[in-house]
Amino acid sequence: MVNIDPKQLTRIIRNIYGKSEDKFIPLHEPRFISDEKEVLIDCIDSTFVSTVGRYVAIFEDAIKSYTGAKYAIATSNGTSALHVALIACGVMPKDEVITQAFTFIATCNAIKYCHAEPVFVDISRENLGMCSNSLRSWITSNTIRQGKDLINKNTGARIAAVLPMNTFGHPCDLVELSIICKEFNIPLVEDSAEALGSSLENKHLGTFGDIGTLSFNGNKVITTGGGGAVITNNEEYAEKVRHLATTARVASDFTFEHNAIGYNYRMPNLNACLGVSQMKSLHHFIDEKRSVAEYYKDCFNDSNIEFFTEPLNSKSNYWLNTIIFENKNLRDLALEYTNNNSVMTRPPWKLMNKLEMFSKCEKSNLEVSEDLESRILNIPSSVPQDK
Ligand SMILES: *Cc1c(COP(=O)(O)O)cnc(C)c1O
Repeated sequence: MVNIDPKQLTRIIRNIYGKSEDKFIPLHEPRFISDEKEVLIDCIDSTFVSTVGRYVAIFEDAIKSYTGAKYAIATSNGTSALHVALIACGVMPKDEVITQAFTFIATCNAIKYCHAEPVFVDISRENLGMCSNSLRSWITSNTIRQGKDLINKNTGARIAAVLPMNTFGHPCDLVELSIICKEFNIPLVEDSAEALGSSLENKHLGTFGDIGTLSFNGNKVITTGGGGAVITNNEEYAEKVRHLATTARVASDFTFEHNAIGYNYRMPNLNACLGVSQMKSLHHFIDEKRSVAEYYKDCFNDSNIEFFTEPLNSKSNYWLNTIIFENKNLRDLALEYTNNNSVMTRPPWKLMNKLEMFSKCEKSNLEVSEDLESRILNIPSSVPQDK
């Protein structure tokens, strides 16, 4: 077994992204190698820079055909996409939504925007996303059925949805999670913000459950500056999302009439034009990102550092490459050394249940989340610049 120290780790990363020692290597930077500048100029010249413009529909069509979802609604960001997706599938104030503690804050913020509460279950070592065993065992020991509703025995609240996250672009166990959600009759919402370009059994992530969301923030696989999308095969959900995200305006030629408290969550045309252009590079980005992952996998093979690889039967976009150390101390030493040497690496998010706002939420045993939170490091994962 090879022992890779922080200095060698830095060299491994520099080998792809820049050998000169003073060059800063970010974790994930966007690449603009298509016709981004031309479409931006075209969009500005058209004067349609806000929500009404042809690029929004073109971008939505591109997302639909790439993911295979029947409907796509482009939104201002991934968090707003999650918020309206949760409302569309029926999450109401005082409800509870089961999610994972190992996720980015946006997942839980969106639940709170609905005035609902998150419930945290554990993640799986195989995929870093929601663990289906943990979900099933929490539901079985903590809920009772009351008519159509599944009720948390401890709080009396209704369980309104299950919200797993496809972590770092890897698919969680969506087949089993779908089975559980059908069995207990709860909507399955997939936070696939990190997972554009990833599939499980040849099905794009975000399309397994009732509704899914994507993000096109600057650090994601493709970017629109800021942006997101809701994808679904359910026509009723799609219409609700589109309506709510467009200030709940009633279709009409002249009058301004709104039939609910809606949101100004639609993606501006200026952002959508970038998305249209970025989508042209997506296949190339995924190929390149998967080559980077291959390279890392070889480097860490038979070493003291574990390189996290895609689960069985899946194709991951390897959004953020992930390495796992033997213990927290070794992880923290590598974290400090790389960042002190202009190579950006990052520990995962602090577990949601450890944040003040979510410290009183219901939760299961979070053994795997706790363990991996302390040993994981994300390493640079951008598409390498043209050689
Ligand atoms: C990026 C991300 C989001 C959405 O983020 P926005 O910045 O609002 O687009 C949501 N959930 C997860 C897990 C994310 O990584």
